[in-house]
Amino acid sequence: QSPFSHGTTPNTKNNHALTGAAPGKRANATFITLARNSDTWEIAKSIRHIEDRFNRKYNYDWVFLNDQPFDEQFKKITTRLVSGKTKYGLIPKEHWSFPEWIDQDKAAAVREDMRQRKIIYGDSVSYRHMCRFESGFFFEHELLAEYEFYWRVEPSIKLFCDVDYDPFLYMKENKKKYGFTLSLYEYKDTIPTLWETTKKFMAEYPQHIAEGNSMKFISDNDGKDYNNCHFWSNFEIGSLNWLRSPAYRDYFKYLDKAGGFFYERWGDAPVHSLGAALMLKQEEIHFFDNIAYWHVPFTHCPTSEEDREKYKCSCNPKDNFDWKGYSCTSRFFEMRGWEKPKGWEYQMN
Ligand code: GDP
Ligand code: MN
Repeated sequence: QSPFSHGTTPNTKNNHALTGAAPGKRANATFITLARNSDTWEIAKSIRHIEDRFNRKYNYDWVFLNDQPFDEQFKKITTRLVSGKTKYGLIPKEHWSFPEWIDQDKAAAVREDMRQRKIIYGDSVSYRHMCRFESGFFFEHELLAEYEFYWRVEPSIKLFCDVDYDPFLYMKENKKKYGFTLSLYEYKDTIPTLWETTKKFMAEYPQHIAEGNSMKFISDNDGKDYNNCHFWSNFEIGSLNWLRSPAYRDYFKYLDKAGGFFYERWGDAPVHSLGAALMLKQEEIHFFDNIAYWHVPFTHCPTSEEDREKYKCSCNPKDNFDWKGYSCTSRFFEMRGWEKPKGWEYQMN
C-alpha cells in the first residue's frame, strides 16, 4: 500500500453479459474528480449523469483525489454509483501548499486587495491550491500513472444527451490531445501577468511551441496581447501523456516559479488553454459538440436539431452558450475555417 493511496475496490461489476456493456475495445482511460468529503452528494449527481448517458455501457474507471483523506461515506456512495473501478487518492503535500519561493506577506496582501475588489475567489487560499494542483499536478498523481486519457468531472454537472460512442477511443484514434465543450473569456483581474510570463516562456523555450498552433484563438494581434479566450476546464477530455510531456511540464514549472498562482489568481483553465493553444497543433484540439454539458452557469447544447433528436437530448437549444457574445467558440470555428452549424443565429441571445 502506497502512502498516497487509500486502496482500490476490486471490479466485480464489469461483466458485459450482465450489464449490457458495449462490445469492443476500450481506451486506457479514466474519469478524474477532485473533491472534498462535503462534495459527496453533488458528485453523486454528476456520476449519475455520466453513468446514465455514457459510462454504464463502457465501465471506465474513476479516480478521486482529495487534499484530505476521503471518508467512508464518500467512498461508499461513489463506488456504489460508478460502473467501473473506483480509486481514492490523497494529494501529496508538495502538490497542495505554498512553494518555498513564495513571499507569504506579498501573497496575503494580494488576497486582501482582491477581497476588497470583490474578485471571485480572490481572497481564497484553498482555491489557489486547487488551481495550481489542476494546472500542474493532478496528472502526476501515482493513481493516474497507468492511464493515457482522462475525463474531468466536477460536482453538480449535468449531461443532456446520450454519448453513444467512446470519446476516449475517439481521442486515441484521431490523435486528439485536448477536448472541450465550452469556451469563454477569462476575467483579466485574475491573470494580469499570465500572458507576459507566457511570452517569456515562449522566447526561452521555442522548441516547445508547435507549428500550426492555435495562436489565432488566443490572440487577435499575432501574440502581442492575449484576448482572454480559454477552454472551460471543469469539463476536459485530454491526454495525460501530453500533460506529462517535457513541453507542458516546463511550461507549468515556469509559471509556478513566476508565482502568479499566489500573487495573482491564475486559474487552471487559462493555463491549460494557453498550453494547448501553443503546444498542440490545431487539429489536436477537439470540440466535443455532441457532449451536451452544464456547469453553473453555462450550457453547451448541440446546435443541430438532428443531433438533439438522435441523442435524446433534454437541453433547451436556446440555452446553448456557443454563439452568445461571451463565448469564444465562434473564434475557434473561424480559426479552423468551419461553417457554424445550421440554426446558430437563433441562439445568439
Ligand atoms: P469553480 O467551478 O471554479 O466554481 O470551483 P469549484 O468549487 O467547483 O472547484 C473546482 C474543483 O475543485 C471541484 O471539483 C471541487 O470539488 C474541487 N475543489 C475545490 N476546492 C477544493 C478543496 O479545497 N479541496 C478539494 N479536495 N477539492 C476542492
Ligand atoms: Mn465547479
